[in-house]
Amino acid sequence: MSVFDPTFNVIYVRVVQGCNLDCTHCFTLGNRDPIKVTEFELIEGYLKAIKENVDPQKATFYIHGGETFLAPLDFLAKVNRCIRETFPDTKIDIVPQTNLTYKVDDEFIQFIKDEYRSTIGVSWDADIRFTTINQEHRFFRNLRKLIDAGIKVHIAITAQRHLLRYDPITVAQMFDGVDSIDFELLTAFDDKSRDLKPNNVAWSEWLDKLTDYYQHNETSWCLPQVDLFTKSIRDNKIYDCKCNCCDQRTFTLNPDGTVGLCPDRTYIEPLATVESIQRDWASFEEKATEVITEKVVQSHLHEMCYSCEHYDVCGGNCEYDLFDDTEECPLSRKVVTRVRNNIETFSRLYDEKAKINLTELREDYHEQ
Ligand code: SF4
Ligand code: SF4
Repeated sequence: MSVFDPTFNVIYVRVVQGCNLDCTHCFTLGNRDPIKVTEFELIEGYLKAIKENVDPQKATFYIHGGETFLAPLDFLAKVNRCIRETFPDTKIDIVPQTNLTYKVDDEFIQFIKDEYRSTIGVSWDADIRFTTINQEHRFFRNLRKLIDAGIKVHIAITAQRHLLRYDPITVAQMFDGVDSIDFELLTAFDDKSRDLKPNNVAWSEWLDKLTDYYQHNETSWCLPQVDLFTKSIRDNKIYDCKCNCCDQRTFTLNPDGTVGLCPDRTYIEPLATVESIQRDWASFEEKATEVITEKVVQSHLHEMCYSCEHYDVCGGNCEYDLFDDTEECPLSRKVVTRVRNNIETFSRLYDEKAKINLTELREDYHEQ
């Protein structure tokens, strides 16, 4: 039996090496890497190998970089065509990820409407992203243009210590009009990124204030991190992937033609190449099995999770090194307690907001 689960796959296609920014927490070299668009034949070969060997029933394709939109739009359209032609029987969703600091004009907006069902993933970070005020202004001008044009914008923000200097309600208002605001837990891989780690009590209080705002105000956005806990509590079931991607369903292609499982690790430590997965998928699968097994063996629950009242809905699904010596966990027990104590309200928000705004929960998901 294959180690890969074909019921739902997450497939990253990194279409550009290099970026116009150089964010502190980024696992790529940002603008220190020369801009290079991935060879189309590599993308084609990568997709075909996944089709032949996994044949997903459902799949989300994340179009990534570096900065995705440094690639020409006609190239991106060609990639989308290739995805649709390679996976004619798979229910697919294609979502581009971007930093939104380039020219957004009518052509761009029409492209997002036509090619990505009016949906875009946008990253923003407090103080570790923009080097000039002009970049920041451009970002928010572009964001407004997209929202005004009816594009569904999904914001991703890294949970890092500089964010905590911002008032959470101000952040909520900065993103008024978007469909979701999600928080990514920090991937600490060097001294610079480790230095960004927030104190878990301070982070938890910050997130709880935002969750309180979500609970008591009419917002355009939902909070996936909170909504997924609501789903777990409602269904009385632990769902994987609250803070890490599951290797058994995730594939990543780097612009240089190397291939691996989750995007962070694949950038640093790929497992194969497009040429090798086409020629010998079995060897790739063998290496993937080793990585997955090693993760299972090495993953151990933090002692806080053993006695946590939320273990039944969370499962302690959090990287061990994100815990600190405080009494809070990286996922915020305080927030989970709030959701549990107000489950009727959060359940209503889940039905009225999350199920409409979040691509993966929408009824019409995967209908291209
Ligand atoms: S915008 Fe994204 S890809 Fe570019 S440097 Fe920042 S985190 Fe990295
Ligand atoms: S301590 Fe945090 S990560 Fe652990 S089970 Fe509780 S809520 Fe989940």
